[in-house]
Amino acid sequence: MFDKGAHDRDYIDSTVVIARASGGMVRDKTTGEMRMGGDQKEHHTVSSFRNSMMYFNPVVIIAGDQNPRMPSKVPHAYCVLDYFKGTHIWSEKSGGYIMHRCRFEKFNATKPSWWQAQGTEDSVTLGALAKPFKQSCKHCGTVSEQVYLQGWMCLQPACESFWKLPPLSSDAEGLEPDKKSLEYDPRFLKQKTRWPIDDSIYPLTSDSASLSNQSVLGEDCSLAYWRGIMCPYCGRCNSRLHWTAWKCENKGCSFFKKVPHAIIPPTSLRDPYFPLSTQYTLSKDTHLLYVGLHVSFAHNYRINKYTIPGIDGFVVHMIANQTVIEEPGGADDMFVALQETDIGLRRRALKSGVLKGDNYTRHFLVNYGMPYKFIAATDSVSFEGAVRPVTDTRSRLNWPAKYILAQHQGKPVREIEADWKAKEFNEVLALGYFEDQKISYHDDGESGLGSTIATLSLGAPGTMRLRMKARHHSGISSKGLYNDNPPMPGCDKYDAPYQAHLKEVAKDLGFTAARNAPDAISMMLGHGDVVIMHGAAIQKYYEHAVEHEGKLRFALTCRYIDPDSLPDKDKPTYKVRPNSGNYDGAAVGRG
Ligand SMILES: [Zn+2]
Ligand SMILES: [Zn+2]
Ligand SMILES: [Zn+2]
Repeated sequence: MFDKGAHDRDYIDSTVVIARASGGMVRDKTTGEMRMGGDQKEHHTVSSFRNSMMYFNPVVIIAGDQNPRMPSKVPHAYCVLDYFKGTHIWSEKSGGYIMHRCRFEKFNATKPSWWQAQGTEDSVTLGALAKPFKQSCKHCGTVSEQVYLQGWMCLQPACESFWKLPPLSSDAEGLEPDKKSLEYDPRFLKQKTRWPIDDSIYPLTSDSASLSNQSVLGEDCSLAYWRGIMCPYCGRCNSRLHWTAWKCENKGCSFFKKVPHAIIPPTSLRDPYFPLSTQYTLSKDTHLLYVGLHVSFAHNYRINKYTIPGIDGFVVHMIANQTVIEEPGGADDMFVALQETDIGLRRRALKSGVLKGDNYTRHFLVNYGMPYKFIAATDSVSFEGAVRPVTDTRSRLNWPAKYILAQHQGKPVREIEADWKAKEFNEVLALGYFEDQKISYHDDGESGLGSTIATLSLGAPGTMRLRMKARHHSGISSKGLYNDNPPMPGCDKYDAPYQAHLKEVAKDLGFTAARNAPDAISMMLGHGDVVIMHGAAIQKYYEHAVEHEGKLRFALTCRYIDPDSLPDKDKPTYKVRPNSGNYDGAAVGRG
């Protein structure tokens, strides 16, 4: 993909594209000019370019409408040019750094190039000129083609004559070229590279919307099905934004296609090597030694309770057994019900992004009850008329949250009942994950949120990891700013006395860069498991991420959101009534 931020000597005509292979440009802090952001290591774009060349794999080039080198004005923000073959890759010096540049040649030269300026013809057909000039390097012996008109240069970065024009006299030193004046040698530029599969025609469109078109278990939740399609009516590339259907986002285009879904039966989630029973389920969680663990067993849940020294609060993983999973209205029933109803799960637009146009969350979500800060108020839905799995979630998560809080305070549940009721869960955030959709490290700490968050996990098994945030772990932010929060047990260099932390500059302590902390807790979330996080400090110092294996997973999270914390524009237009369900996990299985 090539868009704005073109480098000097980037080049596009109707048959040849030359661009740098990798390494983003950065704006120089002092001059404000764009320059290379550091020596280019063997970046994945370089290796995929090499693969294109060596395996004869043509690649598709996409150009943005802000690319200043395009020969004509292109019609859309991003446009697919065509298949190209990678033909040359070489090294150059740029601002003291070494960078890669590569040349692409149109794969099927018999096809017209739609991006060619109207009414013009290519002055030179590929291969019509003399062969490129070749020379071997006096120092390293490498034979290479002459790329620039100014003269042949050795383009091996390890060679002492790298990026130097030949000296004028034999005893003089070679000189680096004046970059501004460099021009491609037409013999190099317009050469034709033969491939055994030249001029084949490969399709440029994806057709995943019509993969099998049958109800194959989990197919509609697979990566191929949600990754994106080209609209069969208008040609626009669309992300899969709807939980149950494809829809073209082009205004005026009517393409809409429901995706057939075969219910994934809960029994298919069972792990034959880890059989589920009415006994307490075994644990697969792990944690670092500095984390405290207390295990208890109650009401069909194994309760792994984690505490972190220096942090006021806890994380609890309640691992469900067969009795709760299979009870009427339990995890199995909810998992099926969520597949039978469209509860409004959508991928939502994110505020910022590198690409033009809307960026979307990777996963699908919908918010019920009190609007959650990250979601536009208009996207929140009332509990009134909501389907069972949504209303049940609130009731089913109020119970374990109360139970765990009471246990933590060493009181019976009835003693905390009144306090809890005043700030009971008033929001359900439902997240739906298809294959390969994960949520990366983040925290759930927002002003106006209650200190207890409970999540019910349904479907494919997930892994939730918690780690200390890098700036607390390393005592320094990614921008190199010293973090003056007291160091936490478990962080890097915790043993350095706190006063010394405060007195010394970060550098003197050897805090040179923020590094990611190892995962302190890894919880294997099974179908029906509940996670409860309690305490603002956990969100302040720690972050968590969740990924899952399999085709379909739901996470239903309950919070208390203080209505007074919402700005007027975000206040709900409906009334958020108290929870009317009275689920009691202590009564489950009593007959
Ligand atoms: Zn050389
Ligand atoms: Zn369309
Ligand atoms: Zn979270």
